[in-house]
Amino acid sequence: MTGSGTRIGVFGGTFDPIHRGHVDVADAVHRALGLDRMLVVVANEPWQKAGRPVSPAEDRYAMVEAALRDHPGLEPSRIELDRGGPSYTIDTVRRLLGDDPTAEVVVVVGADVVGGLVTWHEHEALRDLVTLAVVDRPGAPGVDPSEGWRFVRVPVEPLDVSSTALRSRLEAGEPVDGEVPASVIRCIAERHLYATGR
Ligand code: ATP
Ligand code: MG
Repeated sequence: MTGSGTRIGVFGGTFDPIHRGHVDVADAVHRALGLDRMLVVVANEPWQKAGRPVSPAEDRYAMVEAALRDHPGLEPSRIELDRGGPSYTIDTVRRLLGDDPTAEVVVVVGADVVGGLVTWHEHEALRDLVTLAVVDRPGAPGVDPSEGWRFVRVPVEPLDVSSTALRSRLEAGEPVDGEVPASVIRCIAERHLYATGR
């Protein structure tokens, strides 16, 4: 953590839908590391999720915007939507560093993602450009990133929630209050997502 410029957090995800676990992680990392900016980056085409239907990117972005309205330090980012195509973190990081070559980029990942970093597009180039902030996730192994990654662990109050579980509950018409911010629940209803209001 030696960069002299702006320190930018990049928390990427599918956010289908965004939930309290996500917001808590973004908040905790932003504060714990004293980052200048904390971007919550909505994947346009989450290539790791090929094979299952994903809600339209604009709907997922609208939910992220709704969730972060009360969190002025956290910025919804359209960078991957505007770029289009499959969403690779390396492209996002290069874009941020292109705009501000002195910036330091911190990529935030949950523990469930760490084991798969080796499958990420141009992961070796990414490893040389960023520091990882790793947060624990209930049920996920507490493994460290492989050799060569700069990383810090950031403690977060564990919240056993996932978008997959929430989609099932929403589709079954079950309540998700408490785990999904009220502003996001309104957004889901307005946009008729997850077969709500059918
Ligand atoms: P899905 O079940 O659809 O995979 P998800 O809840 O895992 O959804 P993603 O959009 O896949 O959400 O995750 C984006 C990022 O947020 C990942 O780095 C993931 O590890 C992290 N994350 C998601 N939920 C939690 C949680 N409850 N605690 C800590 N990290 C989380
Ligand atoms: Mg996930």
